[in-house]
Amino acid sequence: MSTQTKFVYVFGASRTEGDASMKSLLGGKGANLAEMCRLGITVPSGFTISTEACTEYTKKGRDYVLDLIKKEVEQGVSFIEQEMGKSFGYCAEPLLLSVRSGARASMPGMMDTILNLGLNDQAVECLARKANNERFAWDSYRRFVQMYGDVVMGLKPVSKEDHDPFEVIIDAVKEEKGVKLDTDLDTEDLKELVHRFKSLIRARLGREFPSDPWEQLWGAVVAVFESWNNERARVYRELNDIPESWGTAVNVQAMVFGNLGNSSATGVAFTRDAGTGEDLFNGEFLVNAQGEDVVAGIRTPQQVTLEGSRRWAQLARVSEEERKANYPSLEELMPEVFKQLIQAETTLENHYKDMQDVEFTIQEGRLWMLQTRNGKRTGAAMVRIAMEMLRQGMIDEKTALLRVDPGRLDELLHPVFDKLGLQKAVTIARGLPASPGASTGQIVFFADEAEDWSKKGKSVILVRLETSPEDLRGMSVAKGILTARGGMTSHAAVVARGMGKCCISGAGAIHVDYKTRKMTVDGRTYEEGDWISLNGSTGEVYNGQIPTRDAELSGDFGALMALTDKYKRLGVRTNADTPEDAGVARNFGAIGIGLCRTEHMFFEGDRIIPVREMILAEDAAGRRRALAKLLPIQRGDFEGIFREMDGLPVTIRLLDPPLHEFVPHDEDSQSEMALEMHVSLTRIKMRVEELHEFNPMMGHRGCRLGITYPEITEMQARAIIEAALNMKGKGIVVKPEIMIPLVGTVREFNAQAEIIRRTAETVFEERGERIDFLVGTMIETPRAALVADSIGTQAEFFSFGTNDLTQMTMGFSRDDVGKFMPHYLKIGMYERDPFQSIDQKGVGLLVDMAVKKGRSVRSNLKLGICGEHGGDPASVDFFHRVGLDYVSCSPFRVPIARLAAAQAALREAK
Ligand code: PEP
Ligand code: MG
Repeated sequence: MSTQTKFVYVFGASRTEGDASMKSLLGGKGANLAEMCRLGITVPSGFTISTEACTEYTKKGRDYVLDLIKKEVEQGVSFIEQEMGKSFGYCAEPLLLSVRSGARASMPGMMDTILNLGLNDQAVECLARKANNERFAWDSYRRFVQMYGDVVMGLKPVSKEDHDPFEVIIDAVKEEKGVKLDTDLDTEDLKELVHRFKSLIRARLGREFPSDPWEQLWGAVVAVFESWNNERARVYRELNDIPESWGTAVNVQAMVFGNLGNSSATGVAFTRDAGTGEDLFNGEFLVNAQGEDVVAGIRTPQQVTLEGSRRWAQLARVSEEERKANYPSLEELMPEVFKQLIQAETTLENHYKDMQDVEFTIQEGRLWMLQTRNGKRTGAAMVRIAMEMLRQGMIDEKTALLRVDPGRLDELLHPVFDKLGLQKAVTIARGLPASPGASTGQIVFFADEAEDWSKKGKSVILVRLETSPEDLRGMSVAKGILTARGGMTSHAAVVARGMGKCCISGAGAIHVDYKTRKMTVDGRTYEEGDWISLNGSTGEVYNGQIPTRDAELSGDFGALMALTDKYKRLGVRTNADTPEDAGVARNFGAIGIGLCRTEHMFFEGDRIIPVREMILAEDAAGRRRALAKLLPIQRGDFEGIFREMDGLPVTIRLLDPPLHEFVPHDEDSQSEMALEMHVSLTRIKMRVEELHEFNPMMGHRGCRLGITYPEITEMQARAIIEAALNMKGKGIVVKPEIMIPLVGTVREFNAQAEIIRRTAETVFEERGERIDFLVGTMIETPRAALVADSIGTQAEFFSFGTNDLTQMTMGFSRDDVGKFMPHYLKIGMYERDPFQSIDQKGVGLLVDMAVKKGRSVRSNLKLGICGEHGGDPASVDFFHRVGLDYVSCSPFRVPIARLAAAQAALREAK
């Protein structure tokens, strides 16, 4: 990197070097701070050290990077000194700084922050004189020593059951004084705290707490760089697909104080409701407090607006008198400042044209904005905000469609509590409805245990006093999160909403004891492993397990889906084997069935007996006898599906899996089969043995079955055609498409197509009427893709079976990939699991080639995909680009695929 590279960008009232477009260089926070200054919003002056400096730090270390940025940082500090009329490191007007991280993508709470930097034994006295408030100065100092000691010097709890060593000291001093709240500590107590904190640091680390402000500053800058690579930041990046190479910027800013008495406060607000999407400004604040008090969830905060405050009081069962007296809103408490805040939030939302999440501080009646960013929100809020902003004329249709992350739609389809179950449920506590949804699970108290339990297939609810960034992984696997402390903007609430996970915060009636692993509510004790249920939409905590049912879809969701149809080119079908699944998918807007796996019908209930009889039969005659029993069953299944999909195409695939999957492997079932078929147990055992394959995935399956046992194909073709004719007789419009699996050569295709067409003709003659139907194939062996121009002369449609195509192209067994893929992903060997998101550069080439070859011989060839990739947004984008006609996915992914298809079309048009 050349020595001319600029690393530091200042922002303030007189001069601002960055803007909102510079997120990759200045991080989200830095770029938006600069933009706010440009919009004329009052922001404490500061500067941003670029992400490039962090990258240099990671590559070349502390000394190199400090040398690189030293001069510019010194100039940045003088800029702040001039703007704020204070000086850093000099006593008369001490300038205190905040040092915060800020990556390109928001990573709330994952990296480190230092506040009140610049304080030492002399500066604290000056600050006390200047502010005319000794207690405030010492409170700031003790917070600084505590934060710096933890973040920069690394003094943390030793084990997970241990408490924070600084908090232990605070608790001891409070106990000695006989007081309960931090605010009950007087100046002398705070001095004592600073003294004990420093002694602890000396004793534990063998070093002094640094008193030189510049040494403090360099230490803090390096700590922020370092925090880019801490465990919780790494986990967050992993969960959110954030590249390691981005690095974090460092924002150094003049401190403003929300803890200068009762005309000071600090808060967090959202321009719209992040949980529901309602167009209602809302937020929380604490009087006489610093920012971390709101986010840490230690004190339960008050609401910014009167409306919000009244809603909160209702939920918290607080009377209007009590609310007014003890928990008034900012609107009531500081009406002038509230007006300024409304003005700022309106300016910001109109400017960014998206919901903003802002942080602010009020210092002695003056409002300072500390941060703005596009707010994290639940899937439901994402949809509502996009559609409402569209109706309000703030954004156009295309922007609205691109605003919604298709993957997040999943949350809107999540279950809610069954109404009857809920009527019987007993409410044990109430908290804040921090993130909507219904969840039920067993209590665990530690995040790592949430992971262990859920790996064992258990549903868990993570119960904590409050959560911290270390708990991230446990939070992501838990069904729901319950915290005893914290408000709507506490760590638990913000992170849970980001994950779309049900969360209740601030359930004050709950007492959590980590040591005994128990939770008590109203005198009743709950142990680890006990069942509870949470309603994240109302904040109610219930005893025991409550059944859930499917969600109802909101009007905005429907409107969004309708909009997808206006822009998408790809059709979206569904993979469904039952009329129920077909019905669900149709409701979600599927325009046909792209894959009906007939083998799933073979497993159901008593049918397995004739299926086994068919497989275990010694000859074709025996097989035909068994197949005759299966025919009416299959026909009935197909009738149900045709009825449900009236008017829409239904692709039915002939039997695919290897036969050994259907035969009994335990002796009891084998004996049962022997009785049924009137043969000896030994004969059955021998036949089962004969069916054994070393590699069944590549063995006797797919069209190979129908070619060796043509009577199976005959039965299935007859069942399909008869069902179609029966339904046509009832006035239903049927569009069957019969699909041959695992074809590798055109001869295989022809052999099966000939049986299908012949059987259909026989049925048409028997019944004296006809229907139209198609015969097509799956393209799921690499050879089929390679010779697609030959197969395309005969097949009327192709459907890419990308599960098998991935397996065979990559040489990864579908069943064994779990052994190495997690490691591969962790070390970056692959960016995504190729069974989840199509390998565009490899397997994708085969798809692209087969599309071109197929269409070269049959211009109207219908092309679709029915592997798991059909519901993955990135893969849908790829299938759009190679020119398929439709994707087919499981019913609950249909809305996701519809939106992804519309976005693909919009991105292509750009
Ligand atoms: C496929 O291989 O992609 C496919 C859809 O078939 P199955 O998953 O049933 O093998
Ligand atoms: Mg397959």
